[in-house]
Amino acid sequence: METEPLRPAAAAAKAREPMNVLIVGVGGQGVIMVSKALASLAQSKGFEVKQSEVHGMAKRGGTVFSHVRFGPQVWSPTIPKGEADILVALEWAEGLRWLPYLKPDTGIFICDTKRIVPPFACLNRRPGAPLRYSRETPAEVKSHVAEGYAIDATRMAEELGNERAANVVLIGALSTALDFRADDWEQALSAFVPKKTIAVNLDAFRFGRNWIDAARTSPANIEVPAANAPAPAHVPYSVRLEITPEWCKSCDICVKLCPERCLRLNEERLVELAQPEKCTGCRLCELLCPDFAIRVHLDAAASTAAIARGVIA
Ligand code: SF4
Ligand code: SF4
Repeated sequence: METEPLRPAAAAAKAREPMNVLIVGVGGQGVIMVSKALASLAQSKGFEVKQSEVHGMAKRGGTVFSHVRFGPQVWSPTIPKGEADILVALEWAEGLRWLPYLKPDTGIFICDTKRIVPPFACLNRRPGAPLRYSRETPAEVKSHVAEGYAIDATRMAEELGNERAANVVLIGALSTALDFRADDWEQALSAFVPKKTIAVNLDAFRFGRNWIDAARTSPANIEVPAANAPAPAHVPYSVRLEITPEWCKSCDICVKLCPERCLRLNEERLVELAQPEKCTGCRLCELLCPDFAIRVHLDAAASTAAIARGVIA
């Protein structure tokens, strides 16, 4: 059946309406990069762009969000509640929190299933501990949005070789909902990522695009991939901190903000795990380190020997 053409006035009014994209996450996830890449691409295509962002707590694991509006004419930089055409969330709980901003009938929700426990919000910060917030399942969320995708973007990026590229997996997903060419996206992205990570980021972008294409043809598009489902609290695991001393700039951020106070700067002012038995594996240090000097690995099992080496259960 042919779609009824819009009357000229309605078509003009529709064309004048800006596209509203809301991007949310927590500090250190790359929300602002997603926003800047989109804004720059839209501007390069001749649209008027307005962008506003809040990232005052970015270094403390706090909420970061950015509104991007573009179109032939845009008056205000902020998206009113219920007016976002697309909501891109880099963290699950943040995604749920911002859902009221999405257009109820047509809004598209694109969300990483990654959950980041707010630093001081929970008494038990061990991975797999029962959460007291955002317990809705992706299937439940899907029933409340016009179109929704829950993506295990962090794991995908990790498998591609750089967990930090999770935001670019989501850009790939976002790109399928906007009318820009893939090669224009890739060009815009390349200008916003460090030169040596361009290849992995382009892989991540294509991965996200392809994932959405595959998800659209599958009714299971919103299921949480098993690998990212929260592990049961009773499953034993060990935590291994991988510290790259040559990248550590001794800024002290991780030491000050580790909720368990188990890091310190040594005599050479390099970070080290001083009290491994206290580390819960919450990954806050990894998230907050501006120089990517810490990686937290959660391994399946622990052994006494491992504990002795600073690899803890
Ligand atoms: S060292 Fe890192 S992973 Fe361990 S408790 Fe502190 S912030 Fe969390
Ligand atoms: S590991 Fe990162 S956050 Fe910690 S002191 Fe070094 S540079 Fe700063």
